[in-house]
Amino acid sequence: MALSTASLFEDESHARLREQARRFAAKAIAPHARAWEEAGEFPRTLYAELAETGLLGVGYPEEVGGAGGDVSHTLAVSEELVLHGKSVGTVVGLGSHGIALPPIVRAAAPEQIERFVRPTLAGKTIAALAITEPGGGSDVARLTTRARRDGDHYVVNGQKTFITSGVRADFVTVAVRTGGEGHAGLSLLVVERGTPGFSVGRKLEKMGWWASDTAELVFESCRVPAANLVGEENEGFLAIMLNFANERLYLAGQCVAIAELAHRESVEYARARHAFGKSLAGFQVVRHKLADMAARIAAARALTHETAERYRRGEGNPAYAAIAKNVATDMVTDVCDDAVQIHGGYGYMREYVVERLYRDARLYAIGGGTREIMNEIVSKTEGY
Ligand SMILES: Cc1cc2nc3c(=O)[nH]c(=O)nc-3n(C[C@H](O)[C@H](O)[C@H](O)COP(=O)(O)OP(=O)(O)OC[C@H]3O[C@@H](n4cnc5c(N)ncnc54)[C@H](O)[C@@H]3O)c2cc1C
Repeated sequence: MALSTASLFEDESHARLREQARRFAAKAIAPHARAWEEAGEFPRTLYAELAETGLLGVGYPEEVGGAGGDVSHTLAVSEELVLHGKSVGTVVGLGSHGIALPPIVRAAAPEQIERFVRPTLAGKTIAALAITEPGGGSDVARLTTRARRDGDHYVVNGQKTFITSGVRADFVTVAVRTGGEGHAGLSLLVVERGTPGFSVGRKLEKMGWWASDTAELVFESCRVPAANLVGEENEGFLAIMLNFANERLYLAGQCVAIAELAHRESVEYARARHAFGKSLAGFQVVRHKLADMAARIAAARALTHETAERYRRGEGNPAYAAIAKNVATDMVTDVCDDAVQIHGGYGYMREYVVERLYRDARLYAIGGGTREIMNEIVSKTEGY
């Protein structure tokens, strides 16, 4: 009997979504995974295909065009897409709305819901979130992209970098400084593609997540309608922090799914590959390595799902999400390293899935807040 990928907190609604996501990923992503990763891009039409199944809108209320459900449902869908699609880059590209839209949904301005949220959840537009700047990502409170009010517009000047889906996005939820120094001077502003003064500086080449695009964005005297302000002026920091907690949970879930995939590929390989007259799985050392990988995955999965359950019950706390992310990050790094080792020389070759997963895994100690920043959050929360 295989170890379950579902959590004990899940019910029929999660099982249905997992099955649906599994089928979609196996049919629409897996056959193209390698080609899209090598090309550094997946077809834009995939957003609409995913939306048609209802999976793109999971985790958003029906009133804004979503499919209902909560963070645990989103996690379940994203895990299955990674595990069965075998292209992490595609899944994170498809999922950039997951960090770009929630602040807009929370602010609940009807006009913004119609213009930005609904079309994105219908797979018609692509959304990105831009917080990180070339001068620094960890120290969010010090970001320097400035938005100066001028009549019924903001004039935006500055740069963002490492923005997932930034090259193709139809609009970007941008963190800007509208007030004074520090976190109390930050706001979120939606900037649409085609706005004069807004451009993609360049598409960045990166270590992993190849199928997703990552961009540098430039704002030069870019005039953005004041109606695109998300929530209240100078209250963006809280929205950003609330968003991070969800993002960190999704990232932990991705780590679990990547590790599970690396483990499955390794089991299959260890059974098929022979050395010294028997299969690799015939060596106790290899079997135990696989068992250790399974144990680490199970532990990180349990913690991730328990953390999601806390959020679902309204008992969330940034330290829980930070701990879950760090545990899952360390786990996926180790498991992918073991997976490459079990594959020997083939593990180093691009045609093997574990080679890609090993590179993909490196992101998680950096993206969505670094490993060190997660520990800072825990330290502050616990008052060390
Ligand atoms: C593939 C990819 C996709 C991304 N997608 C997005 C996106 O869609 N939107 C977005 O806004 N950003 C995105 N990011 C940016 C990501 O969130 C940042 O890279 C991350 O927050 C770290 O910021 P930084 O790179 O500027 O590193 P820095 O902040 O410069 O940190 C460099 C090093 O110093 C350490 N450090 C910094 N401060 C401290 C401290 N107080 N104590 C101890 N150590 C510290 C860090 O932990 C790190 O090891 C993405 C990044 C990547 C690589």
